[in-house]
Amino acid sequence: MAMNRIQFQPGLSMPEFLKDYGTEAQCEQALEVVRWPEGFCCPRCEGAGHYVLRDGTRKVFQCTSCRHQTSLIAGTVFQGTKLPLTTWFLAIYLISQAKTGLSALALRRQLGVSYHTAWLIHHKLMQVTAVRLNEGSNL
Ligand SMILES: [Zn+2]
Repeated sequence: MAMNRIQFQPGLSMPEFLKDYGTEAQCEQALEVVRWPEGFCCPRCEGAGHYVLRDGTRKVFQCTSCRHQTSLIAGTVFQGTKLPLTTWFLAIYLISQAKTGLSALALRRQLGVSYHTAWLIHHKLMQVTAVRLNEGSNL
């Protein structure tokens, strides 16, 4: 599973965060850079040629060699989500800035989502965090 390496420097202010990650397009762009730092690479054939399509609001990448389609969130912690990326980014931001951790309840309040959704976001992000800590890399 491709790791989500979205991270924010400690002390990043809310206005700074919103300036850089306040829109869906900015979050898509950030995720694209994280997934393919050297540009698109087809997960099936490793080809670089691709078209960008739109599936509703989501970007879909189609490989020109094997026609495999992949999305930005396939294989990431965001896979299968219907939530806007902005909600996920905000959750990551809030969790990363909280010195003593953040409960699902607090997330629910701050993100304005249902408790179930907040719990799911919290659970998924904590899983990623745990994996990352086990790998010994920096959060
Ligand atoms: Zn391909």
